[in-house]
Amino acid sequence: MATDLDIARAATLRPIAEIAAAAGIPDSALEPYGKYKAKVGTAFVAEASARPPGALVLVTGISPTPAGEGKTTTTIGLGDALNALGTRTMICLREPSLGPCFGVKGGATGGGYAQVLPMEDINLHFTGDFHAITSANNLLSAMVDNHLYWGNELGLDPRRISWRRAMDMNDRNLRDCVVGLGGASQGVVREDGFDITVASEVMAVFCLARDLADLQERLGRMIVGRRRDGTAVTARDVKADGAMAALLRDALSPNLVQTIAGSPALVHGGPFANIAHGCNSVVATRMGLGLADVVVTEAGFGADLGAEKFLDIKCRLAGLNPAACVIVATVRALKMHGGVAKSDLGREDVAAVERGVANLARHVENMHKFGLPVVVALNRFTSDTPAEIAAVQQAMARLDTQAILCTHWSDGAAGAAELAQAVQARIAAGAARFAPLYPDAMPLSEKLRTIAQQVYRAKDVAIPAPAAQKLARWEAEGFGHLPVCVAKTQYSFSADPTALGAPVDHTLPVRDVRLSAGAGFVVAVCGEIMTMPGLPRRPAAESIGLDQDGRIEGLF
Ligand code: ADP
Ligand code: MG
Repeated sequence: MATDLDIARAATLRPIAEIAAAAGIPDSALEPYGKYKAKVGTAFVAEASARPPGALVLVTGISPTPAGEGKTTTTIGLGDALNALGTRTMICLREPSLGPCFGVKGGATGGGYAQVLPMEDINLHFTGDFHAITSANNLLSAMVDNHLYWGNELGLDPRRISWRRAMDMNDRNLRDCVVGLGGASQGVVREDGFDITVASEVMAVFCLARDLADLQERLGRMIVGRRRDGTAVTARDVKADGAMAALLRDALSPNLVQTIAGSPALVHGGPFANIAHGCNSVVATRMGLGLADVVVTEAGFGADLGAEKFLDIKCRLAGLNPAACVIVATVRALKMHGGVAKSDLGREDVAAVERGVANLARHVENMHKFGLPVVVALNRFTSDTPAEIAAVQQAMARLDTQAILCTHWSDGAAGAAELAQAVQARIAAGAARFAPLYPDAMPLSEKLRTIAQQVYRAKDVAIPAPAAQKLARWEAEGFGHLPVCVAKTQYSFSADPTALGAPVDHTLPVRDVRLSAGAGFVVAVCGEIMTMPGLPRRPAAESIGLDQDGRIEGLF
C-alpha cells in the first residue's frame, strides 16, 4: 500500500504564485521560499484581515486513542471538498514540531489523499519559524543570565527564575539542568531546564498576537522570574522585547502552501495543546477569513481540550466568531472507548461501538454549550463494518446530529463532499450563537471549576493551597480577567489517562498553576504534563533516512 510519503511524492505541485493568485493574494505580497512555499507580507496581511470575515469552521475530535482519529486529514479533506463545490476555502493548520516527527506521532501534514505539500519540508525545517521562535526564547534566557552576571540591578532572585531555555526536539536529558558552572567568570550558577519550543510561551504569544506591535507588547509582558519580595520581572524589564520581536519579524508572516488537490493552506505557528492553546496563529486565521468564504481550521487533542481552548482562549482573545464545528470520530477509536484493546480492533464489535459512542456524544453536547452547530465526520478506515457505522449514525441521530461517513483519506475531495455540503448548510442556516463558556470577570478558580464541571463533567476541582495562593496573588496583580488553559491528559475527560469513554463525577486535581502573562492566560497543570517530551524506545527517527537519490524516506 502507498504510504503518505509515496502519495505526497506522486502529486504534481503547482507554483506557489498560482495558488496565491487563486486565493486572492497578489504577487506583490508574496515572499517565495523556494517554488512551493511562500510567506505573505505584513502590509497585505493587515489589509486582508480588515475585510469582512468569511465563516470560520473548527475541526476537532473525540478524545484521542492510539487508534488515531484524523483531525488534520479531515481538515484538509473538508477544505478540498468545499473548494471542489465552489466555496472559496482556506485551510489553516499548525506547523509540525520536530519532537513528534522523530518520536512517536509522526508528522502533521494529514494523510492519504488529504495532505498539505511539500510534506517533507513542512514537517522538517519549513520556513524557519521554529528556529526564530527558539532563538527569541533563548535570547531572553541569555539576557536574563547576563543580567545576573553583571550585577543583577533588577534584584531577580536566581532561585525564582521561571523562564526556561527551549529547543525543538524530544530530549528528556535537558528537562532539568544546572547552568553557569565553571567558576566566577562563567556566570551565576542556577537551576534551569529546557522546554520543547512548541511549549514555550514565545510560541503561544506568536500565535495569539494580532500584528507585530501586539507581538512586541505581549513579549514584553512575559514574566521571567520574581524578586525576593515576590514582585515580577518581565522581558521588558530586561529590555529583551525589541530584539525578540526583531528575530520574529519575518516568522510572523503566514506560510502559504497547497494541498494535493491544489487548495490554499496557511500553515503557521504550532503551540502545544496542553500547556498552551493548541491552534495555528491568529494572524493566519484572520487573513484567511479576509480572503476566503470559509476557513477550515483544526484544534489539537480532543474537543474537551483543543476546542475548548480554541473557543475560550483564541476566539475570545482575537474576537473570532465560529460558524460551525466538525467533530472527527472513527469506529476504531470509539471501540477503544468502549473497552476494546488495540490488538482486537480488526474484529466487528457493534456493542463496543455503542458503549464507546458515549465519548463522542459528550463532545457533541459540549460544543452545543458554546452555541455551535455540530456535524460529526466519521473518518472511514477499511476495517469498519456497515453495522458499526450504522451504530454511530443511530446514536448521533438520537442527539439530532448528522454523522457523515467520509473517505477523503482514500478518495480525496470527493470522499468529503457530503460533509462539505452539511457544513455549507450549517453556515447558510446561520444557526451559530457562539459564546465563550465563562465571562472574563469570573474569578480564576471559578473559571477552572466551570470548565471542569461543564466540559469534563467533574464533581469539582481540587486546588492545593499553594496554587490557590498564586491565583489570589495574580488576581491582586490584575491578571484575574485572563482565561484559563488546562494542561491535562488528552486521553480522558478526567485527569486519569486510562478512564476512557465518558467518566463522570471525578475530581480534577490541580497540581500547579502558571501565569503566561504575555500570551494572556493562566495555565492549570493537572497531572503529569511534559513540557519537554522524551523519545520512545524505538523512535520514528530510526526509520528515517535518505535513499540513493537523496530523497527523504520513512517520514509519516
Ligand atoms: P490527528 O490530526 O487527529 O492527530 P492525522 O490527521 O494527523 O490525525 O492522522 C494521523 C494518521 O492517521 C496519519 O498518518 C494519517 O495518514 C492516518 N489516517 C487518517 N485517516 C485515516 C484513514 N481513514 N485510514 C487510514 N489511515 C488514516
Ligand atoms: Mg492533527
